[in-house]
Amino acid sequence: MMKQQAFEIIERGYTLCENSGVGILYCDAFSRIPDIEHGFSTRLGGVSPAPYDAMNLSLTRDDSKENVLRNYRIFFEETGINVETAVLVNHEHGSNVICVDKADCGRGLFRESLPFCDGIITDDPAVTLVTLHADCGCVYLFDPVNRAIGLAHAGWKGTFKRIAQRMVERMKEEFSSDPANIIASLGPCICKNCFEVDERIGNDFIAEFSCESIKMSGRKGKAFVDIEAALVIQLIDAGIDRKNISSMGLCTYERSDILYSYRRDKGLTGAMIGYLKLRR
Ligand SMILES: [Zn+2]
Repeated sequence: MMKQQAFEIIERGYTLCENSGVGILYCDAFSRIPDIEHGFSTRLGGVSPAPYDAMNLSLTRDDSKENVLRNYRIFFEETGINVETAVLVNHEHGSNVICVDKADCGRGLFRESLPFCDGIITDDPAVTLVTLHADCGCVYLFDPVNRAIGLAHAGWKGTFKRIAQRMVERMKEEFSSDPANIIASLGPCICKNCFEVDERIGNDFIAEFSCESIKMSGRKGKAFVDIEAALVIQLIDAGIDRKNISSMGLCTYERSDILYSYRRDKGLTGAMIGYLKLRR
């Protein structure tokens, strides 16, 4: 089979739930798993003013810390998860993955940040993994046999450095996870029709992932790159079964009604979070 077909996602689907004005996205395939709680925030709800309206969850924007912390409390109130259990990724667009436990709760939000990392993993149900996004991909992993989870921020640079594959490898090291058992889901991400980069980057992606269709021609000297396909290919390369990979199938750039997009909003925008937690 050609690789172009090998990475096609079998199941796409999301559900948007709105309660008290707060909108939370769930991946349909992951919603069927009773052992975990997961979700992805939207712009809906929250107290931040324009252009961060309204549920901005990034502490690095020019929005007040007071607003952002208030948003975290509002958001987690709706999830039913204690916000104090959150551990935030400290992304640098690399491929470092850190294993965390309850001793890390609150890091990056209420106390010191983690060392730089784009992926975080745990087998501790006392921890809620949190990653930040405003176009960059979100990778959720769950090992039902060893009851372990991983969550990654996957921008194009981290995707190129195989952050998702690296996270699978770290779960093998830390929890003896067998990739054949791992279930993966992808959150919202800027899609292949909206993500234009220098043509050179497109060519690098073709070479790295051995896939011609990962790049599509754009304007002169430019190309469109399929981040989601690059993530699926590396998850398969890591040993995950294709039928265990699903996606919400949402484009951040196109959905200005519910999602922030750094590129669309030219940097003047908020950020969403992905979260993932083991149930006790
Ligand atoms: Zn798009």
